[in-house]
Amino acid sequence: MRDIITLACEKCKNRNYTSTKNKRKTPDKLAFKKYCPFCRSHTLHRETK
Ligand SMILES: [Zn+2]
Repeated sequence: MRDIITLACEKCKNRNYTSTKNKRKTPDKLAFKKYCPFCRSHTLHRETK
């Protein structure tokens, strides 16, 4: 039961990554620090729908 989630850059709002997570195990919104090619630096990427 793992659902696909999208990770969007917090600065430019571009959706750069997709991931999966277990919604029962992790009900909170996820945020990862990943490289954004638009900002050309590492930014916080938050889970979006
Ligand atoms: Zn960005």
